[in-house]
Formats: sequence, C-alpha cells, structure tokens
Amino acid sequence: MKPGTTYAIEVNPRIPERLARLKELAENLWYSWDRPSRTLFARLHPGLWGAVGNSPKAFLKRVDEERLVEAAADHIFMGNYNRVLSSFDTYMSEPLHRDVAMPFEDGDLVAYFCAEFGFHESFPIYSGGLGILAGDHCKAASDLRLPFIAVGLLYRQGYFYQRIDNDGHQIATYTDSDFDDLPIHPAMTKDGHEVHVEIDFPGRKVVVKVWEAQIGHVRQLLLDTDLPENNPEDRYITHQLYGGDKQTRIQQEIVLGVGGVRALKALEIHPTVYHINEGHAAFLVIERVRRKVKHHNLSFQAALEAVAAGTVFTTHTPVPAGHDHFGEQMVWEYFGACCEDLGISRAEFLKLGGAGHGQDFNMTRLALSGSRHHNGVSRIHGGVSSRILSDMWPQVTPDESPMDYITNGVHVATFLAQEWQDLFDNKLGYEWRRRLTDLDFWHQVENVPDHHFWSVHQALKTQMLHAIRHRITQQHLRNHGSEAHLDRMLKYANPLDPNVLVIGFARRFATYKRATLLFENMDWLRQIMKDADRPVLFIFAGKAHPADEPGQELIKRIHEISRWPEFEGKLLMVEGYDLGLARRLVSGCDVWLNNPIYPLEASGTSGMKGAINGILNLSVTDGWWDEGYDGTNGWAIKPAPEYYDDARRNREDSQTLYELLQDQVIPMYYRRNELGFSPEWVHMAKRAIATLLPRFNSIRMVREYVDKFYGPASRQWSRFVADEFAAGRELSEWKARIQAAWGGVTLRRLDDPVRRVTYSENVQIQVAVNLDGLAPSDVQVEMLIGRASRQGQEKELRVLSFSPTGKVGNESVFTLEMTPEYCGRLIYRIRVYPYHRLLTHPFELGLMLWL
Ligand SMILES: *Cc1c(COP(=O)(O)O)cnc(C)c1O
Repeated sequence: MKPGTTYAIEVNPRIPERLARLKELAENLWYSWDRPSRTLFARLHPGLWGAVGNSPKAFLKRVDEERLVEAAADHIFMGNYNRVLSSFDTYMSEPLHRDVAMPFEDGDLVAYFCAEFGFHESFPIYSGGLGILAGDHCKAASDLRLPFIAVGLLYRQGYFYQRIDNDGHQIATYTDSDFDDLPIHPAMTKDGHEVHVEIDFPGRKVVVKVWEAQIGHVRQLLLDTDLPENNPEDRYITHQLYGGDKQTRIQQEIVLGVGGVRALKALEIHPTVYHINEGHAAFLVIERVRRKVKHHNLSFQAALEAVAAGTVFTTHTPVPAGHDHFGEQMVWEYFGACCEDLGISRAEFLKLGGAGHGQDFNMTRLALSGSRHHNGVSRIHGGVSSRILSDMWPQVTPDESPMDYITNGVHVATFLAQEWQDLFDNKLGYEWRRRLTDLDFWHQVENVPDHHFWSVHQALKTQMLHAIRHRITQQHLRNHGSEAHLDRMLKYANPLDPNVLVIGFARRFATYKRATLLFENMDWLRQIMKDADRPVLFIFAGKAHPADEPGQELIKRIHEISRWPEFEGKLLMVEGYDLGLARRLVSGCDVWLNNPIYPLEASGTSGMKGAINGILNLSVTDGWWDEGYDGTNGWAIKPAPEYYDDARRNREDSQTLYELLQDQVIPMYYRRNELGFSPEWVHMAKRAIATLLPRFNSIRMVREYVDKFYGPASRQWSRFVADEFAAGRELSEWKARIQAAWGGVTLRRLDDPVRRVTYSENVQIQVAVNLDGLAPSDVQVEMLIGRASRQGQEKELRVLSFSPTGKVGNESVFTLEMTPEYCGRLIYRIRVYPYHRLLTHPFELGLMLWL
C-alpha cells in the first residue's frame, strides 16, 4: 500500500465533429444486435474495448482523443463508420415492409413489465434466461415496429462477475455500475424536467427516479430509488438484482409494479395493454385498479374486470416454489392503506393473491386474478401450468383451462453469428431477414455446399476455442496454477485443430438442470472418453445464485472432476458466464447438451441459440425441444417417467445420454469423408437450421403474442373503457350474480337417450337446467361429440350448442336438434357453463357442470 489517499479522475476525450454520431450509436441498444457497429468501436482500440466490458458508451468516455482524431482522418475507418450509420438510419427510419396486417389501431400501446432485461453484456440488469428472453422480446418488438414500451428496474448491481478459485468455489463479485457508462439517460417530461414519482411505503414516501433506454425503436423506462431524498434503506431497494431479503424483494416488486404505472402516467404514456412478464411485476394490477376506482367512481370489482381484460400474464416456471410469495402480514403492511381507497376488506385483498388459510400471498395468483390472457412458454409448460394452477378454474379441466402457451424464441440477429449472416446473405439473398418465419424458405439452407457450410462452422469453432483458451489461461494463472498443468488442460481446446468433438453445457446452475448428470456413471463415461482417436471435449460454464449452495456444489464437483488425470484437458469449467460468452459458445460448439429433470425446464432458450447456428442439440425432450426435435435435427433424451424417484430418473436419463453419445453422437462426428468432415453431421446441422431457425425465433414468438393476446387485449380494453367503463360494471355485476347462484344450478336430461339412429336421421336431445334465478341467456349448454377412440375418448371433437325452448316447472329446457355427420360409434357429453358476451375467455369464471 502506498501512503496517502488515492483519488481518481477520468479524463474524457472530445469527440471530433466528424465522429459525433458515435455517441448516438452508443446510446441505442441497436448495437447489441448489430455486430458491425460493435466492431467499429472495438477496432479503434481492442484492448480498451475488452477492458470496458464491450460497452460503447464507456469506451467513448475513455478512448484517447488522439486515436479518435486519427480515425476521423482515416478514410477506411470513415467508410465503415458511414456504412454503420447508414444501416442504423435505415433501420430507424425506413417503414417496415409488412406482409401481414397488425391488429392494432391508433393509440394502441403495449407496456411490457419485467424484473430483468438482458440486451447485452454492457448493460448488466439481467441474471439469466428470463432477462435474455425479455431482451429478445423487446428487440423483436422493435424489428416489428410494434407500439411497445418496456418497464424495468435499474440496478446498481446487476449480473455479478463470477470467478472460480483453485478449489472450485464460486466467488461472486458485484461491482457498482457507473450509470454514466450505461446506455441510459434520465427520462424527461415535455417541459424538460426529470421524472420522479412517489410511492407510499409504511410511514414514508419513497421517491423513484425514471431513466430511459432505447432499444432500436423501443423505449424502455427504468426505475431507480438511489436518491438523496430517500432514507438510506430505501436508497438500497433497487441496489441489487434479486438481492436482499423478502422485504427487499417485495419493495422491489412494488417499485416495479406501482412505480412503473406511475412513471408511465407521469410521462403521459397511456398503454392499452399491460404485459406482466413473470409474477414479479403483478402489483401493477393493484395500482391500475386503484386509479380506476379513484378517478372513475368504479367499484373494485368493476375496475378489476376492466384492468384484467387488457392485461397479459406470462408465467415462466413450472415449479410452484419458484413463484414469488410473501407473508400475509408483510403484504398487508404495504397495501393496507390502499385497500381503504379500494373499498375492499383485508380478506378480499388477500384472496387476489390466493392468501389466507395458512397460504402466502402469491404473485402468480395475483397476476392471474388481474389478467384475462395467460400463457406458459412451451407446449409442455402450458400444460403443466394449467395443472398446477387448476384451482383458479375449479370446474374446468386443465386441457380447456384459460392457461394457453406461446413457445419462446430467440432474437436471430443477436445470436446468429455474423459469419452465418454473411453466408445467408450470399446463398439465400438479403431477404432472409424478412423470412424469419417462413419454413419453406429455410429449406434452401440444405442446398449450401457441405464444405462451405462446414468451413463456416469450423471458423466459428476456432474463434470460440481461442476465447476459451484465453479465459482458462487467465483463470488458471490467477489461481497460481502451473504452466505445465495449463498445457495439459488446454490440450484439446486447440484453435489450430478444431477437429475435436466439442460438447457445450452452459446455463444457470439451478439444481433441476442437473449439470452433473454426465457424471452419474463414471466408469461408463471413462469408457466413452478414453478413445484417443476420437477425443471429446466438454465445456461447462454458468453461474449459481450466490445464495444457492447446492448450485455452487455442482460447480465445485465439475471443477474437481476436470482435475482428475483421466479427464484432464477433456473437461473445462469456464468462469464468468455472461451474454458475451454465451454468444461464443452457442456458435462454436458442435453439440449443445441439456438434461433437466422433466418437466421442470419451462422452455430453455440456449439450445435455440445453438440450433440457429447449426449446433446439434442433445437434450431431454422437455420445454422447447419436445416441439423442436423431429428425428433428423439433433438427438432426443426421452425422459424417464415422472413417477420414478429422482435417483432412478437420473440413472435412466444418464443411461440414455451415454448410449446416445457412444452409439450415435461420437461415431457420427468421426465418420469423416476425404475432405475431413462427416457428411451425415453436416446434413443434420443443416436440418437443425432449416427446421428450427424459422420456428424458435423471437419474431415468431412476438407475432404470436400480437395475434393471440396484444390485439385481442387492446380490443377488449377499448370495449371496457367505453362509456365510463360500462362494460366493467356490467360484467362485474353479472359475475357476482353468477357466483352467488351457481351452487344451486343443476342439470338433468329430459329425453330417453336414443341408442341407434339411421344415417341422416334427426336426433333431438333435451335437458332441463335449474338456473336458480339466473336467466337462460346467462348460460351456454353444449354437446361435445366425436367418434369413440379406443380409449373411449372423443376424437374429431365437435361442439354443438343447445337453444332455450321453454320451461318445465322452475327448470329451463334446452334443446338440441342434430343430424350426426357420419356413421359409426359416436360418443358425446353435455355441459352447462355461465356465459356472457363480454367475457375474454369463455371459461374464465372456472365454473362448469357436466351431465
Ligand atoms: C440464453 C441464456 C440463458 C438461458 O439459457 P437456458 O437454456 O434457458 O438455461 C442464460 N444465460 C445466458 C447468458 C444466456 O445467454
């Protein structure tokens, strides 16, 4: 230590006039998916670019002025600069060529709320898959020019930096972001003031500052409580992503949900649709209902109906424990006063979050209570979510529940390596960017000559191996490892010889992802990996949450095994996983391994990133891969049944994994032709791109959100706000009537069931419904009819409606006249459920009776 105080001063260059627009580029996250623009910065000073964490804004503050002056006089640099600007200007100003109409009207706007966003490693406000997905959603919304605004929290400490020490311990270091280095600026009102909003906390007000980021065409608002007006604890609320304790968490979620709505209002932004992306943001429902009650003289229920009709909720985890929840008392402390404004009791409030009877207040429940459009993120996950949340719709079977699904997708320009983009420009024409959801178009990939295709892959693999070597070297030398040991570790990670089969596994180290499944049977694994002529290199990377001990144990175990002599050089555990490293791995490995416990991987997205880059997935058919795998585009680990115990499932799934590795993956990779590659492999890789890229990208995903939810939710919202929320009042009163009467409703058949008819003969069926005071128009009576399958279920199901035709006593009679459409054995069932034209989903009340 040197004596005395050390002061720091940053000297900023003046940016030459000719390069003034570099600042503009640094302020728009367009750079996160435009590689040429990042290259423009990096080439100015590659060392500094790495040192500032690939952040254009930080770079511009620290680069030597002389270097900039030089560049401004260099016609080659200026050529690149102008090319990048021209492509930026084109993106920002050219109207979109649209082949399909959007279901939006003037004034429609979607507000997308999420606790984390992962756009780029230079903007660390994300932790994992959820954030990256939210980032990709915004990027696609920008590409599609959607009326769309994102809302999130601005953390001082976002993604932590991970180091792994000599013993395999994860060391998490959080560094404070300097907000001046982030691509953000304070949001301003029309009359030029910074935007601050206030939130009532018990006994005090918390002030929230609103910042703004720009993602192509999309604006993002970011909330920050680190202000001198707040007391020291409150300044800490938005300090760390998923940091602190339960108190911090609920405070963060209030800032996001309540503060987010207030920030929009302060900026005079009026969304027509609110999208709650994962339960963290669900308090926005309360704030919106409160405003409607206060300003429009509505009952709580009427306001809730209106708010919910325009709200979309996406759930992202199939593990009930993964849904955020808070103790009753804690929630009440923050919302008790608000409930007086709302005119509801404590019990009514708690019920919104499914609390009471020993249950916590659950954010997923709140989000479901406050939205009428809900989805999971893959087909399997949609089904699992309907089942675990089925008591929200007690009389509706999970297969008909309002819980829908939209499978995730990844942003192609962000994750598709530049080299592939260049190849596609060349072979498919520039228009491939406009054909991202066109399955037929992408079959052309299969016409790319094999050797050409392979050389692109090998070039990317070389780059990836370079990067891995560099990281492992730093990691090893910092941990005081020896040079000799380093050489042994890097034996197969050799950029000069990219002909070793490389299998990647990189993701968060949550235990359900089973990062160590590969080590289930060490003898078998040794057997598979001992062939010196057919070496295999496994690369692992990923972070465990600093509070997740079992997750950190997994890292330690992998690190340990990588030190065993027989695995030295064949197994690497690389530290510091982030978006930058992810982009490298998903374009440079040969195989992408994913082996979670079924059905806990809601979707998974890293495998999609690999697939679009021609990497072959070797994965459990869970999440997206169950939909993606078609027998020709990768390998499927069919999961052992759920009713086996964990140990047995691990055993069975790992056995499938070993068999695939030894019988298929490794032999196929090494069945090389005279040109030095495996033609079968290349064909499979082409199939992966051709079949998976056009399906698992974020344009397809966001279009589905638009068609299924954003469009209909906008229309529902217009219906509900009309005439001072007349629809909200009407529907809430109707629902109250239904809820009160439904217990007394009964259904019985009046006619004797006919068992045999001749084709084209008419059949009449009559039922009597005791409506207990409800009107016949309050319900729908239906027949579900189809051919009988072997299991006695209906196939080719048709739904036919009965009509009200009078009364018997105090029961209403409903009649159906029908002529069966085909011969054979048909089976049918009859049901009654409440119906109103204003319902968003016919079964949203969750009530239904069957005969
Ligand atoms: C894509 C991505 C994830 C999510 O990966 P999963 O397959 O969903 O586990 C997590 N972290 C980073 C940095 C990513 O790029």
